[in-house]
Amino acid sequence: MDQTRIATKCLHAGYVPGNGEPRNIPIVQSTTFRYATGEQMGALFDLEASGYFYTRLQNPTNDRVAAKICALEGGTAAMLTASGQAASFYAIFNIVSCGEHVVCSSSIYGGTYNLFAVTMKRMGISFTFVDPACTPQELDYAFRPETRAVFGETIANPALTVLDIEKFAQAAHAHGVPLIVDNTFATPVNCRPFAWGADIVTHSTTKYMDGHANAVGGAIVDSGRFDWTRYPDKFPGLCTPDESYHGVTYTERFGLEGAYITKATAQLMRDLGSIPSPQNAYYLNIGLETLPLRMARHCSNAQAAAEFLQQHPKVAWVRYPGLPGDACHALAEKYLPQGSCGVVSFGVQGGREAASRFMAGLELASIATHVADAKTCVLHPASTTHRQMSDGELSAAGVAPDLVRLSVGIEDPADILADLERALGGV
Ligand code: PLP
Repeated sequence: MDQTRIATKCLHAGYVPGNGEPRNIPIVQSTTFRYATGEQMGALFDLEASGYFYTRLQNPTNDRVAAKICALEGGTAAMLTASGQAASFYAIFNIVSCGEHVVCSSSIYGGTYNLFAVTMKRMGISFTFVDPACTPQELDYAFRPETRAVFGETIANPALTVLDIEKFAQAAHAHGVPLIVDNTFATPVNCRPFAWGADIVTHSTTKYMDGHANAVGGAIVDSGRFDWTRYPDKFPGLCTPDESYHGVTYTERFGLEGAYITKATAQLMRDLGSIPSPQNAYYLNIGLETLPLRMARHCSNAQAAAEFLQQHPKVAWVRYPGLPGDACHALAEKYLPQGSCGVVSFGVQGGREAASRFMAGLELASIATHVADAKTCVLHPASTTHRQMSDGELSAAGVAPDLVRLSVGIEDPADILADLERALGGV
């Protein structure tokens, strides 16, 4: 299976049915699993035998879908979470404790920023946000003795900046900490961050992986390459006995390939419980089966939309990594040679009011607080999610009053362009 190409993995990795077994990954809709003796279950609790005992920790449907995502990213272990937010939180909290610190790209999804800068700050974890375009020296300067991880997004939502993964990985490794990359917008079809030095990958599977607005979900994948045992003082949770789990030392018992995900499952999932339902994991798997087909179409449609918008007289500016003039085009050519994603940001001439009129004129695209869906959707933050803010406040938050975030779907491109043309005509 490891030798197969990504489109084949999207269909077959993670689950090989035996003779007479269901061809689709079965939905194991059970919270509990039966055993004949207490000793058998005791061995599972001690992590001495593998098997299922309670779905909050592990479930066969969820594990098979996680194994598929693991294969797509080229990792050694993976887990599903109930949302992308839970994946971001677990990925960091698994190795960073109160009093410690994370270096983070400033160009990340607003919900992740809030999680880090507000909620995790209240837990005593501090973050230094760096401009992703910073020099290696500026990046180096952000580290502290108590830094335990570096975080960034392959393609940032909604800024659409492309992360220089090698630059961030080199800085992280020079300081003896892992690089965690949120690969939601690129998906493993367009970029596999492990190939560029990232150590851990996270996803909001709610986006392209699910692709049909069916199920909120997240995933964490470990490359198995970061050597925690070289820095036992930095990562005691992985390198010394976990008294809350029968004294197991994760790196000793599960090796570098399994320690990080086993700890996140045995400890964080046990205590915090953000598991997806097996039904949602099943929906996610259906989405994964067609991911390469959809990503290619999202990218070609978005490229056509970005080029159309760029030449339109009523459009003030366009941001899309696939445009030759885009600030991140060179990074996109390096890290995303097959295409970036389906999201295009642009400004309508005439500012906030004009953008509102544009939105009102759309017929095909839905106004939705969502991106990365098969159906084209669009959001004007200044008249929706950020409507309480003045133009000055919006600019300070990095959201231009005229900014429209267009998530280009997989409809016929001629119909998407006709919708844009019609709506711009009414501005
Ligand atoms: N990461 C990125 C890049 C996102 O765009 C989002 C949501 O939009 C998240 C994480 C959070 O994911 P979820 O909404 O599944 O919790």
